[in-house]
Amino acid sequence: MSDKPEKFIDENGLRLDGRRIDEIRPMKMEIGVLSRADGSCYLEWGKNKILAAVYGPRELHPRRLQKADSVLIRYRYNMAAFSVEDRIRPGPSRRSTEISKVSREAFEPVVLTHLYPGAVIDVFAEVLQADAGTRTAAINAASMALADAGIPMKGLVSACAVGKVDGQLVLDLNKAEDNFGDADIPMAITSEGEISLIQMDGDVTQEEFKKAIEMCKEGCRQILEIQKETLKNKFTKLDEVEIPED
Ligand code: UDP
Repeated sequence: MSDKPEKFIDENGLRLDGRRIDEIRPMKMEIGVLSRADGSCYLEWGKNKILAAVYGPRELHPRRLQKADSVLIRYRYNMAAFSVEDRIRPGPSRRSTEISKVSREAFEPVVLTHLYPGAVIDVFAEVLQADAGTRTAAINAASMALADAGIPMKGLVSACAVGKVDGQLVLDLNKAEDNFGDADIPMAITSEGEISLIQMDGDVTQEEFKKAIEMCKEGCRQILEIQKETLKNKFTKLDEVEIPED
């Protein structure tokens, strides 16, 4: 791992990767990339590369795990062994179990769970390359994979982190800011503006915390635009396909 930089923000207010403090990393995504999943999304955000796949809704076995009045959502966040500098031991860890739990909960306010009692929706988020902010990147990709699978939802979920370096709040942490910064606050926000995930590592004042939420909402608004555009592009293309008459 590289050393802590002397300064994270230069005299022009630019960060080590040239971004302003309120600027997110470049993001691109594509849906429908896996033919055997019901929905899928490949997302690149800065140097993060994530593949999300959704299976379901389908009947849950064993039946004793079924919920009588709603669908069960399962979410697995997993880092590939080769996704980080030091090889990661395959299999679940405390970190991946925690991230899977909070990410699943981030979708609970939007998925219309009552429509599929007794069924299960499986969401897999595979981190192929990690460079800070993978839980939020995975949520953005999973949201698109759920939409691609046609899962009825009130809206999409967008996620981003705010952190603190050199005494200033910064949007969408890069690796150095994540590793050596003073705070890291990942959030997920529904398209209706509800915060469905918020975690915090490090210290910020109450004022900073409020400002961090506002910065994150703005970041998520930008991500939501990219997500909506991606969906529109795919489904407009489908509209253009001519359906042969008999
Ligand atoms: N990381 C790593 N090895 C690990 C876990 C994380 O190298 O076992 C790196 C990875 O680049 C990740 C970053 O540390 O993106 C920050 O990890 P954190 O736990 O803060 O989660 P994230 O910011 O990815 O959601």
